[in-house]
Amino acid sequence: MTNEDGWIETNGQMETKVPGVFAIGDVRAKDLRQITTAVGDGGVAGQQVFKYIESLNDTGVKA
Ligand SMILES: Cc1cc2nc3c(=O)[nH]c(=O)nc-3n(C[C@H](O)[C@H](O)[C@H](O)COP(=O)(O)OP(=O)(O)OC[C@H]3O[C@@H](n4cnc5c(N)ncnc54)[C@H](O)[C@@H]3O)c2cc1C
Repeated sequence: MTNEDGWIETNGQMETKVPGVFAIGDVRAKDLRQITTAVGDGGVAGQQVFKYIESLNDTGVKA
């Protein structure tokens, strides 16, 4: 899950390659590691986690 430099790769939705696993903040592979970017990551991830859990409900899987 980590790249050659040890950071966790995510897309812009904070999704890792593993479905349902998200990464935010300083552990992510990104250009700027500051409080503001970590908080922004958290906001994005929160919404995406919600959507992910809802998608599980759509398939009848209990979240
Ligand atoms: C010296 C220094 C000065 C900085 N100054 C600034 C600044 O002026 N302005 C700014 O915007 N940014 C600054 N930063 C960067 C900023 O602190 C980080 O970008 C920000 O804190 C990242 O937030 P985070 O939640 O990703 O990680 P963190 O704030 O590091 O939080 C990670 C948490 O996870 C905990 N943890 C680690 N391993 C485990 C584990 N196995 N189980 C459970 N918990 C675990 C840690 O104890 C920690 O509490 C500074 C960083 C440093 C090192």
